[in-house]
Amino acid sequence: MVEDAPQGRSEFQRDRDRIIHSNAFRRLEYKTQVFVNHEGDLFRTRLSHSIEVAQIARSIARRLRLNEDLAEAISLAHDLGHTPFGHAGQDALNSCMKPYGGFEHNLQSLRVVDMLEERYAEFDGLNLCFETREGVLKHCSAENARQLGELGERFLKDRRPSLEAQIANLADEIAYNNHDVDDGLRSGLINLDQLASVPLVATHLHEVHSAYPELPERRVVHETVRRMINTLVTDLIRQSEHNINLHKIATIEDVRRAPALIAYSSPISEQQRELKNFLRNRLYRHFRVLRMSAKSQRILSDLFGVFMADNRLLPPQYQRQVESDRARAVADYIAGMTDRYAIREYRRIFAVEEAPL
Ligand code: MG
Repeated sequence: MVEDAPQGRSEFQRDRDRIIHSNAFRRLEYKTQVFVNHEGDLFRTRLSHSIEVAQIARSIARRLRLNEDLAEAISLAHDLGHTPFGHAGQDALNSCMKPYGGFEHNLQSLRVVDMLEERYAEFDGLNLCFETREGVLKHCSAENARQLGELGERFLKDRRPSLEAQIANLADEIAYNNHDVDDGLRSGLINLDQLASVPLVATHLHEVHSAYPELPERRVVHETVRRMINTLVTDLIRQSEHNINLHKIATIEDVRRAPALIAYSSPISEQQRELKNFLRNRLYRHFRVLRMSAKSQRILSDLFGVFMADNRLLPPQYQRQVESDRARAVADYIAGMTDRYAIREYRRIFAVEEAPL
């Protein structure tokens, strides 16, 4: 829907403001990034993660003289469609939804901002700009792209999104790789000796140890992580500036036709890939993380099964009669849950002992 231009703020600022005021945004506080919300108060949640992504994306956008407000809006909205319990939750919901068109969290983020938020008198969703919606969508399968009209076109034609969307995408990666190092160490599931085998960490860890031999370990960790973030961001800005000049980018059309322009130099790209591998093998596949993931997958698939079998157990606004549509309504309901809400709902439905109403 075409709205009047906002007064006193840009359209992207209005998008950002609407995202911050949405229900889905507030729920991010109680959704898992890696560690489930009740495991500890200092771990990142999807909310603190999204704020870190926005901070990094804005710094990069400003240095490249791009639109900071757009980069911020995309970053704050990029995880709105995430299920409870992080990637384990998304995998569980995706396999439940296999016969009904599957579940992709990027596409779900778009559903949240396009339809599921019910706040405004004149439209469903948040009525965000094309550029913000494009950035939020990030990836999607060719099959889904075909149903998305103008927004899906670039996936079919292999064209790039805006530079701000590319920045938000990489800022996401910089944020989670670094905060997962911090959270992983805090949880005790990984340690500094193991991390010393990862080149990106090793360089900075060594510098910090030799400059401050007496520094307590928590400060060593923080000092190392902040230097890692700085290295990645600085490299990304330098390389992206180079790419933009090299391809003589002047218009958005140039951006769409060019290869991905926001990128690391190849040595740093390699180093950050090694860090990613380390985190995958040592942290995301740690038995304690997997044990929690298995539990959360069971919670979500049991909830899905029970709602599909008996529609009447759903809150009235989600009750739909037609099976394929019902599956989507169940997926919307489950995806919108916070970790603790899902656990509570599971208890309400399955617990035999006295359960809270
Ligand atoms: Mg993210």
